[in-house]
Amino acid sequence: MSTTTPSLEPARGRSDAPQVHNNYIGGRWVKARSGETFPSVNPANTSEVVGHFAASGPEDVKAAVDAAARAFPTWRRTPPPARADIILRASHILETRKEEIARAMVREMGKVIKEARGDVQEAIDMAKYMAGEGRRLFGHTCPSELPDKFAMAVRAPVGVVGLITPWNFPVAIPSWKMFPALVAGNTVVFKPASDTPLCALMLVEVMIEAGLPPGVLNFVTGSGGKVGMPIVEDPRVRAISVTGSCSVGRQIAGRCGELMKRISCELGGKNAICVMEDADMDLVLEGAVWGAFGTAGQRCTAASRIIVHRDRYKEFLDKFVARTSALKLGYGLEAGVDVGPVINKGQLASVNEYVEIGKKEGARLVCGGKIRDDGELGKGCFHEPTVFADVKPDMRIAQEEIFGPVTAVIPVDSFEQAIEVANGTEFGLSLSMYTRDVNRAFKAMEELESGIVYINAPTIGAEIQLPFGGVKQTGNGHREAGITAVEQFTEWKAIYVDYSGRLQKAQIDTHPAKKAD
Ligand code: NAP
Repeated sequence: MSTTTPSLEPARGRSDAPQVHNNYIGGRWVKARSGETFPSVNPANTSEVVGHFAASGPEDVKAAVDAAARAFPTWRRTPPPARADIILRASHILETRKEEIARAMVREMGKVIKEARGDVQEAIDMAKYMAGEGRRLFGHTCPSELPDKFAMAVRAPVGVVGLITPWNFPVAIPSWKMFPALVAGNTVVFKPASDTPLCALMLVEVMIEAGLPPGVLNFVTGSGGKVGMPIVEDPRVRAISVTGSCSVGRQIAGRCGELMKRISCELGGKNAICVMEDADMDLVLEGAVWGAFGTAGQRCTAASRIIVHRDRYKEFLDKFVARTSALKLGYGLEAGVDVGPVINKGQLASVNEYVEIGKKEGARLVCGGKIRDDGELGKGCFHEPTVFADVKPDMRIAQEEIFGPVTAVIPVDSFEQAIEVANGTEFGLSLSMYTRDVNRAFKAMEELESGIVYINAPTIGAEIQLPFGGVKQTGNGHREAGITAVEQFTEWKAIYVDYSGRLQKAQIDTHPAKKAD
């Protein structure tokens, strides 16, 4: 990360000049203690700076945790429906600011405008859903084994929680964590990805406008090592929720394990679409193009493998390559653009390295394969949508997460083999099956080893009212969204109320042997 130190005076009102943005700690916008900043740039034109952000460090994190810890007792006692009212107001503000935030997202992160609107919409949906949770937060009651005794289990907030988020869904993913954490009564220290601090800041602005009291949400920008890890290390932070790569997730989860700290990880994927011989090919093609190249393949659920029955293999490949070749690469605010840039130069080099690996492994490059360094595209991080054919399931391009516009087409001879190949990676986020045979569809739902299964739809397109997350190396057993959203942010408290007026001993008074004593 570069640590330039431009003027710290905000350049409000000058749309051409990038602004300098601070942390938000204890209800105030404050500079990093170091006084340094880092730039966030437009991946479609890396010479365009979107804004400068606080290059924070452990002292800033400490101040943020101080503020969150101070705010916790009052926020915890605020009735959940009142907490939820603020989140509902946030949904309305997000609706009002949807277009503005989506356009900023295109500039900062590169996804095309219709997808950026979808990203904001996901946060709106989550806000509305979580606002309802303020009047649920269900616990349960159950009978006691003793007379005149009442038994129940209620949810309690965890305390101060740390949220560490990636850049690929820069508003939606923070919302999946922030809204359930807040409605459940936790206070938050939020560290966004260093590639998308502006989008994260806009979400924080929305929460402030919605009426969140000072200290309840604290926002600290800066690197994973200097900000992320100090959040993890602070003993007052009781839970961490991270979405990111497997390597970072393992590092954070390892440390949380040592510290006996709650940790929820949503990590990488190597998702697959399976195409059976009876599939509706037009439907498959639309889904495969969207699944593989939506968000330039930078979705944790991207279809980076397409497993096709040999009876339809040539037909699929010919038509898929034709459609992929027709995709328009460009800046996401321009009309007609289908695929935007990848996030940064490092990712661009990494994607292209995988293309070289694929060629060396003997896969057949049938479409794309190049970095675009010409004309307007040359100013940004553009990689051609790329298709490899005749990929073997054990090749690296079929096993490792590439996180770019590259997909591997793998031929198979049967439904059973398709399932085996689909399940044959260390990841388990999203798998899809295209078939018109209802028996096979149900078999696939049963046999596919992933947190999300689609039938006759691509691997992307999750809705917030269902649990989101994966198995195997994709996560550590938690799920975001849906009825599971509050799990990672609440502790169960079992409560027994004895109204008998005498000491009653569970397991002893009720044991039949007592009668013989
Ligand atoms: P990343 O490099 O792992 O970063 C994720 C977050 O962790 C960022 O905020 C990053 O900060 C921070 N971080 C990095 N090193 C850290 C450390 N040592 N300690 C604490 N925090 C640290 O991931 P990314 O490139 O942003 O996102 C892409 C990855 O996310 C892909 O693997 C994708 O599959 C995964 N993802 C998974 C899901 C899911 O739900 N399963 C959803 C979306 C994305 P900096 O930005 O400052 O480095």
